[in-house]
Amino acid sequence: MHTESGLPAYEVIAIKYATRSGARPDHFVGGDPHDVPMPMDYYLWVIRNGERLVLVDTGFNEDMALKRHRTLLRRPVEALKLLGIDTNDVRDIVITHLHNDHVGSFDSFPNAQFHLQDDEMAFATGHHMCCDGFRRAFEVDHVAGMIRLVYKDRVCFHKGDAQIAPGVSVHQIGGHTAGLQVVRVHTARGWVVLASDASHYYEHFEKKRVFSLVYHLGEVLEGYDRLLELATSPRHVIPGHDPLVVQRYRAVSPELQGIAMRLDLNPIAD
Ligand SMILES: [Zn+2]
Repeated sequence: MHTESGLPAYEVIAIKYATRSGARPDHFVGGDPHDVPMPMDYYLWVIRNGERLVLVDTGFNEDMALKRHRTLLRRPVEALKLLGIDTNDVRDIVITHLHNDHVGSFDSFPNAQFHLQDDEMAFATGHHMCCDGFRRAFEVDHVAGMIRLVYKDRVCFHKGDAQIAPGVSVHQIGGHTAGLQVVRVHTARGWVVLASDASHYYEHFEKKRVFSLVYHLGEVLEGYDRLLELATSPRHVIPGHDPLVVQRYRAVSPELQGIAMRLDLNPIAD
């Protein structure tokens, strides 16, 4: 389907593959006066139409769930199968950043090219990794695995903004990590922005609060403005870990209720 602008319109799907419990003070710089539960969901995202398929992030498998005490609901590969996607057919994967929950199952996609920001690889392999606070969400085997893929010509580096396909582009925001990138997608309802960890929850960009794990606080805050510039409206910004995404968007099918949501369709509720 092409819209009046001549750009293709894509289907955009959030797949929930894992979850964990947590409390509000865990998720904000400076904590939070309300010590109440605030669970975190884990997603990967599919962008597709009749001609193309772009995967955004790869999620993690049992190993990370066990090591980091997350509840794996379904392996990312199994989740993709529910949408009829064979991992052998995935050719383009945007890695928003190299944290374990976004890159963990990278080795399940033998034919994919990985789109990564220059600054993210530099960050994950450079002097900042001497600091435990910056290092802890990365997994050295994932980072080393990506370096191996560089040597196989399977990493496509970007510096700032870049087009991945007509109507699909990446934009470096930084902040949470030095090279974090978000993805902007043209859909029938306008420009949807997959914020990933540029905004973990709606509350972060809506109230200009900052998630507790942060590399550059100023870039996080400027990033919120950038998200709103890139998206057709605030309702087009999709946070990276918010359980509300499941409630706000329609399921792909009744069988996939709570698992796969259509982000290219208007939200059911705000
Ligand atoms: Zn994350």
